Amino acid sequence: MYTDVLIIGSGPAGISAAFHLDGYEGSVVVLERLSDSMFSRYHSVCGEAVSDRMFIKAGIEPESVVARVDRIEISFPGGTVITVPVDGNIIDRPEMLRSIRRRCGAEFIRATATSVVREGDGFLVGTTVGEIHCRYLIGADGAHSVVRRDVFGSVPEMLSAVNYIVEGDGGSSLSFTVSQSLNGFYSWRFPSKPGTMSVGSPKGEVPPEGNISSGARHIPFGGVPRVVDGNAMIVGDASGMANALCYGGIGVAMLSGRKAAEAVKAGRPNRYARWYSRSVYVNPHFMKAHRQFSQWTDADIAEAMRQFGGGYSVGRGIVAIIRHPRFANVYFATWVAFKKGW
Ligand SMILES: Cc1cc2nc3c(=O)[nH]c(=O)nc-3n(C[C@H](O)[C@H](O)[C@H](O)COP(=O)(O)OP(=O)(O)OC[C@H]3O[C@@H](n4cnc5c(N)ncnc54)[C@H](O)[C@@H]3O)c2cc1C
Repeated sequence: MYTDVLIIGSGPAGISAAFHLDGYEGSVVVLERLSDSMFSRYHSVCGEAVSDRMFIKAGIEPESVVARVDRIEISFPGGTVITVPVDGNIIDRPEMLRSIRRRCGAEFIRATATSVVREGDGFLVGTTVGEIHCRYLIGADGAHSVVRRDVFGSVPEMLSAVNYIVEGDGGSSLSFTVSQSLNGFYSWRFPSKPGTMSVGSPKGEVPPEGNISSGARHIPFGGVPRVVDGNAMIVGDASGMANALCYGGIGVAMLSGRKAAEAVKAGRPNRYARWYSRSVYVNPHFMKAHRQFSQWTDADIAEAMRQFGGGYSVGRGIVAIIRHPRFANVYFATWVAFKKGW
């Protein structure tokens, strides 16, 4: 089989690439390895929080919204709580992905990609239903991407995280609790479908009582050295795009899928490489702040955040930087991450 564009994976990154390739004059095929029921399960193990801002940037209308979010609350050791007003959504991701898929002109095939080899300026992809030749290849196949493994050979850093659905009213706030016991990570509590909440943390924490369901996956973060090789591109989790501080990955996955699709339409995959290398989402300052932050003790965190005890404001942020210049990168990167990285 031959196709002009082959997209591997139909999660947020792959479906966005397929959506934005509508109107492309060549043929577009999307491979998805999971059956309908497994697809729903796989795409229901995350907090599913996506800001209005990221939907706009990704050029995708928010839909299948199960709750609206109007603030982020971050609780630090020492009792400081920072509240940031935001506009965002909790989505029913499987429903949203299926709805976009119904509107795409691409051909969807249920198959697993198992290998990728170069073939002239295109690629030969081994799959469970036979070989597929393509000119452009978009690897949207998640944390353990076959395209990244066979074409790029890199591995981003990974956080193993677990999300539980529990009964309760999650309100309209994304709540985070930071603690040194979580090694530079945090636990979260988000609203979910009516009458339920998402409660999650890095894997290994004690599960919440009375959980209805749970799911664990890796979140790749911090970026990878290269995302374009000839006519092959990797997008979303395959390219380690989840933010290294807030771990938002859905919005950037959709945005990177869009950028890769636009690069294919222009016949210039390197445009995607340029966008990626300049993008705020994989800026090395996030990784630097993540590393600094993971070494802090609870006492360090309490001291660094004391300034914000009376609430967050730009003025207080400036005073905090003047008082603790060595924490400046953490203050700034965390602010940008929670404002823009999800
Ligand atoms: C516990 C947890 C909580 C999270 N919470 C949030 C949150 O609240 N907000 C947020 O923005 N992000 C969150 N994330 C991150 C977010 O889930 C990911 O960043 C996002 O799913 C990335 O989308 P993607 O399309 O790149 O990859 P994926 O969602 O992993 O999709 C990849 C798709 O490719 C398919 N596939 C994989 N390999 C193959 C193959 N070889 N052949 C064919 N098909 C293949 C898969 O079946 C899947 O459908 C969370 C992650 C976890 C683990």
